[in-house]
Amino acid sequence: MPISAARNQEPDAALSVLNHVFGLPGFRGAQEKIIRHVTDGGNCLVLMPTGGGKSMCYQLPSLLRDGCGIVVSPLIALMRDQVAGLTEAGVNAAVLNSTLSYQEASEVERRLLTGDLDLLYVAPERLLTPRCLNLLGQARIALFAIDEAHCVSQWGHDFRPEYIGLSVLAERFPDVPRIALTATADAMTRKEIAERLSLTDAPQFVASFDRPNIRYEIVDKQNATTQLKNLITERHAGDAGVVYCLSRAKVEDVAASLSDAGIPALPYHAGLDASVRARHQDRFINEDGVVIVATIAFGMGIDKPDVRFVAHLDLPKSVEAYYQETGRAGRDGKPSTAWMAYGLSDIVQQRRMIDESTGADAFKRASIAKLDALVALAETVHCRRHRLLGYFGEAQASENCGNCDNCLTPPRVRDGKVLAQKLLSCVYRTGQRFGAMHLIDVLVGRMTERVKQFSHDQLSVFGIGRKLNEKQWRAVLRQLVAMGHLRAGSDAFGALKLTESARGVLKGETTVMLREQPETARNRAIRGKSRRGELAPSTESKGSAANPALHAALRAWRSEVARQRGVPAYVVLHDSTIDGIAAMRPDTLTELRGIAGIGDKKLEHYGDELIRLVNRTDG
Ligand code: ADP
Ligand code: ZN
Repeated sequence: MPISAARNQEPDAALSVLNHVFGLPGFRGAQEKIIRHVTDGGNCLVLMPTGGGKSMCYQLPSLLRDGCGIVVSPLIALMRDQVAGLTEAGVNAAVLNSTLSYQEASEVERRLLTGDLDLLYVAPERLLTPRCLNLLGQARIALFAIDEAHCVSQWGHDFRPEYIGLSVLAERFPDVPRIALTATADAMTRKEIAERLSLTDAPQFVASFDRPNIRYEIVDKQNATTQLKNLITERHAGDAGVVYCLSRAKVEDVAASLSDAGIPALPYHAGLDASVRARHQDRFINEDGVVIVATIAFGMGIDKPDVRFVAHLDLPKSVEAYYQETGRAGRDGKPSTAWMAYGLSDIVQQRRMIDESTGADAFKRASIAKLDALVALAETVHCRRHRLLGYFGEAQASENCGNCDNCLTPPRVRDGKVLAQKLLSCVYRTGQRFGAMHLIDVLVGRMTERVKQFSHDQLSVFGIGRKLNEKQWRAVLRQLVAMGHLRAGSDAFGALKLTESARGVLKGETTVMLREQPETARNRAIRGKSRRGELAPSTESKGSAANPALHAALRAWRSEVARQRGVPAYVVLHDSTIDGIAAMRPDTLTELRGIAGIGDKKLEHYGDELIRLVNRTDG
């Protein structure tokens, strides 16, 4: 029997279903308002960040209203995992997409018509077929949820032509409430969604896009792979993570190098066979603690909640992309790390890609502006979160979030006027034709072949920068590029050229403040802070605090159950539920039922086994 048929007419039916079915004690943020609005038959647009809890906003009303909730989603893996999770919780849920056989699809259709389904996930192209629209016309529909609604935007990066056709829902089913949801916040996309889905008169629920559990860190790139290995072994051992690289070759390299270091890492890029890609993605989703090394194609449509870190070894294209990609960490709200290593060569490389692209000039200019904004975020000495959310137009109450590298260990800033002048003069004297390496050779007075070839040892700038080492000069150089005093040219050598604003620096009219912060010291400091037990995205946070042996036993039990049932580990129990059990050591089913994530069905299925496991395991 579907839950909607059995639902309670008590005033707090929503809370009761949240508690019994999902095992959760209360609503988050605007969820309650949204759920009431939709349950009462209202249309709306919901903007919430990844991990904000959008699914509940349509799942609960579907359970509370008569009929079946139809969820339109373009993402097949996500549909499958959501249905697995709902089924675990005792909800009658199914999918209708191209992965089903004819028989399987007919069975789902039959269940829809007989009123046996609470929720049905449908791919948009399927939904728009005359056959499916007819079918829906004969069924009782609780609501339409249009997930990833930004896919209707022709200007966005995820445009899907099928989404345009969804305007038919308002015409054919005017009395069925429509709820559109997205994690893309900008005003233009929002307006487009409202227009195309006939939601211009509907209320919009806009949540803060802050992800407080994500710790933002951006470090100076030295040897990125080694730095990444250190990050993983020191702070994220055994954790699931995503590593982004720009090229397929680098993806393969990094994955191999992590594997050699004993870290379970898998490559993922468009050059791999589809079956290999699918296998790697499945292992990442289903197993505990797998690291996927991928090009940016990976991640959309994966709602694995327990990704503990996202690492960028190359610079994303924009602040938007950075926010979206880092946002795949920590959907479950637990401490997570967004870490990026970047260096001058990243800026040079991205600039070259833009210059060489075939786009119109206006497009190139826009791309350069986007890159500049990201570089400014990477170079800022102020709070990264403040800057990031500010970019999206969201003001923060505090300018110190306490959970980014700059807030945790404020970088030292010093007057860099003289250093900047030395470097800019060196660029000028050598004819604005050389890249970073040669410029630094000249500054530190190194007699290389090239220096000899061009007689650069005869210049007044030769050796004027001996007080700094190469690494320090690179940092100065990068910051001058980020400030816009130097520009990476479009030639293959990455020649650096002076900009208009360099003149002011050379004349001494412009102040230049430079950050200095050796990365290793910083990393240690951040690690130290984690140890002191603030929001700590570290191995310590995984619950070794409370009963490590029990924690490990629970995780092993979960892996085994997930494997047997062929579902992701998090579908069996979330990390936070495991933490809760390990900390509480429940003796009775009633105690176990009080832990978030244990609803009626999970108690029935796993309760006795979990209590036994708790009693059997010391510490
Ligand atoms: P989104 O679709 O917005 O990215 P999800 O709907 O997948 O987010 O929810 C993210 C996580 O938050 C999930 O693990 C979900 O179980 C959890 N969650 C959602 N609502 C609540 C709530 N009211 N209390 C506790 N956890 C919640
Ligand atoms: Zn901060």
